[in-house]
Amino acid sequence: MNPSPSAGHSAPAPSAARTGAAPAAPAAPALDRAALRRARLELAAALRWAAKLGLNEGVCNHFSLEVAPDRYLINPQGLHWSEVTAGDMLLINGRGEVIEGRHPLEPTAFFIHSWIHRTSPRAKAVLHTHMPHATALTLIDVGRLQWCNQNTLRFWGRVGYDDHYNGLALDDAEGQRIASQLRDHDVLFMASHGVTVVGPSIAWAFDDLYYLERACMHQLLAVQMAAGQPLRQVPEALCAKVGAQIASERQQSDLFMAAIQRMLDREQPGWSAQ
Ligand SMILES: [Zn+2]
Repeated sequence: MNPSPSAGHSAPAPSAARTGAAPAAPAAPALDRAALRRARLELAAALRWAAKLGLNEGVCNHFSLEVAPDRYLINPQGLHWSEVTAGDMLLINGRGEVIEGRHPLEPTAFFIHSWIHRTSPRAKAVLHTHMPHATALTLIDVGRLQWCNQNTLRFWGRVGYDDHYNGLALDDAEGQRIASQLRDHDVLFMASHGVTVVGPSIAWAFDDLYYLERACMHQLLAVQMAAGQPLRQVPEALCAKVGAQIASERQQSDLFMAAIQRMLDREQPGWSAQ
């Protein structure tokens, strides 16, 4: 989320909210430091590449990654996605407390992310943006992806829609409501707001985020070009077949992330500083 921090808000702690007592701090999980360094690199690379593609807004919105039980990496408050380095990523716990990091966490950043991490264990990576073409679809009453494009078919059976805009997600209740709308989907279109994409890794979730924006851009162009004519819909059976085909080639997502890091090495030296 991207609202201004509000006094009195802290990161979600639903058990404490119910009982009024401070929750017991979980035992610190053992962290694989080499894996953590790789995760910081992927998170910073995804943010920088998203900025290069114009998928960011101001210094708002967050990408987060669960790296161990009750441990998450997330981008810090106040840094533009185009300037973050691997070492700028914050290591936080589920209550939004910074465990490692030289920057603050935006106080309201974690309301959506923490509830999705908590309620969807398979959602290791949670990416939230207001990227332009996908967000434009959320502005249309009952705006839906049309199954007319190979790029779109990768999302067959994986897309949910929250058609109820409820203002900024400034508290647990709204974060929990949004998370409940995701259910078992990997993509959530959030009415009048933006999108959230989840996945088992930053590489897979970012690849989906990238192709989701491309799919929405193509749909917009097609609708404009069609000038009122219907788009050519792919039969459902073929949608399912192509969706499965693309799902069987997810090494492409890891290769894309590796290519992004090589391009950043050439174009933006310093991005990988830990
Ligand atoms: Zn948002």
